[in-house]
Amino acid sequence: MINLKTRLAIAGGGIGGLVLALQCHKHGIDCTVFEAVEKLEPLGVGINLLPHSVRILAGLGLLEDLKSLGVETAELAYFNKHGQAIWREPRGIAAGYDYPQISIHRGELHFLLLRHAVERLGAERIRTGHAIKRFDAGGDRAHAVFENRRTGAEVAEVDADLIVAADGIHSTVRALLYPGEGPPRYSGRVLWRGACVWPPFLTGRSMMQAGHANQKAVIYPISRKVFEETGNNLTNWIMELAVPGDTPPRQDWSKVVDKSVFAGPFAGWKWDWLDVPALIEAGGTAYEYPMCDRDPLPRWSFGRVTLLGDAAHPMYPIGSNGASQAILDTESLAAALTGERDVPAALARYEAERREATAKIVLANRGNGPDQVMQLAEERAPDGFRTDVYEAISRAELEEISARYKQTAGFAKAQVNARQ
Ligand SMILES: Cc1cc2nc3c(=O)[nH]c(=O)nc-3n(C[C@H](O)[C@H](O)[C@H](O)COP(=O)(O)OP(=O)(O)OC[C@H]3O[C@@H](n4cnc5c(N)ncnc54)[C@H](O)[C@@H]3O)c2cc1C
Repeated sequence: MINLKTRLAIAGGGIGGLVLALQCHKHGIDCTVFEAVEKLEPLGVGINLLPHSVRILAGLGLLEDLKSLGVETAELAYFNKHGQAIWREPRGIAAGYDYPQISIHRGELHFLLLRHAVERLGAERIRTGHAIKRFDAGGDRAHAVFENRRTGAEVAEVDADLIVAADGIHSTVRALLYPGEGPPRYSGRVLWRGACVWPPFLTGRSMMQAGHANQKAVIYPISRKVFEETGNNLTNWIMELAVPGDTPPRQDWSKVVDKSVFAGPFAGWKWDWLDVPALIEAGGTAYEYPMCDRDPLPRWSFGRVTLLGDAAHPMYPIGSNGASQAILDTESLAAALTGERDVPAALARYEAERREATAKIVLANRGNGPDQVMQLAEERAPDGFRTDVYEAISRAELEEISARYKQTAGFAKAQVNARQ
């Protein structure tokens, strides 16, 4: 076992952990990332970065890379299960933001962050095969022990000013801090995710959602390169169904299933602007993930350890907020560490800025966030609209739902454009 000393020990080299490492580098804070897996792979499918998180990534010098990899989302569009429009709104630059919304392959985003972290911090600062196992953060210093999960061997003992747990929805640190909490809370809905090359639909850079709370399709393009090379889009798709019960399927981001498990209920979703069953059929590997979150916590920081990203506030993937909120955490924590006199004061400021704010989003997402317009349409007009949506939902109500969620999640235009 080796002994290491670092100012910040970051447990978890996912999206939040690596962005925090880049923030530390920018602010001159010595840090080391400890990631559980032995070899990082470009895993996942589509993920969204809202303008407030793109602003932060731009501040880390990543904007041009992001724009060259992902798609600058131009529109968010909701439809009922008959393919009739409920609500369409411009997004990102098209909506007057100073920064784009970017839809991107999670693996490409992860590897972009990894490349920059290795270049800026040095490869020795990103230690894979190091899963945090236990820690003592109660005194003047924090101590953590890391293990190699494959061999079970303890591989490093680390002495740090602060341990930041960015170790995801199944956070080891959170489980040690809250031993009674148990597994994530199941929503009663399962997501099946995949990506395939598909002709552009709507604006060509639209993120579309159709259906209602118990059956939904979410489809959007995620690769600028594929579009430039083929004229078609690498298209991320998510099919979601209610699967009641207390016991969700295994929560593993890489669990592959046969499409017959979920394709049946979408068989009739063929519209003149999009053929959902054909897209599923074309759609490559299908990954299954139960939609889960956890209850907001009363406290994230204990002595010299704190939580960040999904470890702190895992939320339903509704409203495109998971990665964005992790990135917002990194900005807040780095500013607190540079601006406050000591670690306890920095953690108090970080929690004050981020805990309540993210708890509100977790709860808003349980109420379907902005997607509730689809559920309203289903409840008020299950057979569809004769003329248009306004028979069922007024324009003012639609506008209010959209504006309220943006305000809650911190990406109303005035909130983003006011920040430098
Ligand atoms: C493999 C994978 C695929 C995903 N695919 C998608 C997707 O397609 N779409 C989407 O919207 N979201 C996806 N997510 C979730 C998404 O990345 C997060 O919701 C969001 O970006 C918040 O980031 P995070 O850093 O908090 O968590 P994550 O990005 O989940 O990162 C957590 C990291 O911590 C590591 N870790 C776990 N336990 C320990 C430990 N004890 N010690 C050290 N490290 C540990 C994990 O290996 C992981 O790298 C995926 C996550 C993972 C891990």
